[in-house]
Amino acid sequence: MLDVCLLGCGGMMPLPYRYLTALMTRFNGSSLLVDCGEGTQIAIKEKGWSFKPIDVICFTHFHGDHISGLPGLLLTMGNADRTEPLTLIGPKGLERVVNSLRVIAPELPFPILFREIEGPEQTFELKGYRLKAFRVNHNVVCYGYTMEIDRAGKFDVERAREREIPQKFWSRLQSGETVEDGGRVFTPDMVLGPPRKGIKLTYTTDTRPTDSIRRNALDSDLFICEGMYGEKDKASKASEYKHMTFYEAAGLARDAHVREMWLTHYSPSLTRPEPYMDEVKKIFPHSKPGKDGLSTELMFEE
Ligand SMILES: [Zn+2]
Ligand SMILES: [Zn+2]
Repeated sequence: MLDVCLLGCGGMMPLPYRYLTALMTRFNGSSLLVDCGEGTQIAIKEKGWSFKPIDVICFTHFHGDHISGLPGLLLTMGNADRTEPLTLIGPKGLERVVNSLRVIAPELPFPILFREIEGPEQTFELKGYRLKAFRVNHNVVCYGYTMEIDRAGKFDVERAREREIPQKFWSRLQSGETVEDGGRVFTPDMVLGPPRKGIKLTYTTDTRPTDSIRRNALDSDLFICEGMYGEKDKASKASEYKHMTFYEAAGLARDAHVREMWLTHYSPSLTRPEPYMDEVKKIFPHSKPGKDGLSTELMFEE
């Protein structure tokens, strides 16, 4: 099960009633954050989740509304006595940008590991998450992310018995381990059926619609996508500033055959997304207007 919380849904600046866009997920005791603008700590606190288990922070790009909350968060994680390393993922220049921000958070009790994304797409395997960064189209280098949790095939008791695999090794094989015993080697594929459908989440913000989004978001259980503007007459503004309208986001959701789409990164000028949702749902019926703290649990299929 993947616990998902859209911490905030605002773009550009935090408002009294709207935190900046950030996503937090929890899987198997490990938390992951995508983007960390000003006030993200308050949004996490509001949700009631902890800072200490955040093992990975991914950055879409280096605009202030997506990274300016980092130094404060690092200090809080340090005050929570975290000692395990923290992995940061982001566009080229990540280490330089973060080290500049670290001038105001110099002493931390945990090491920071930097993973700068190389090229248009890169995959990272971390803490049970398979993360893929893919290039999108903003006015600075920007990436979207897919997060996948794989699921192994079903354990086949009949096959395990036929091959006379001792029962004491079953659970290790089931968790993907290869086991050696007195010269015999047992591999997971001897006892597991074909891989089953896992969980897939895609998050992308600050971009025009791109083929990379359509391709990478394909068949996602949840697609969280920027929608800066709901007003139809702001389509040219969206294009000029390299953002999207709600309708463009819905078009991507439809093309990528996702199960559900949440809008996020609203312009401060947009007070309520709801009045535009009927039109959005004509393009993609399973659309939801993101709001601060909107949460779900993505489950493996039965
Ligand atoms: Zn932004
Ligand atoms: Zn931006």
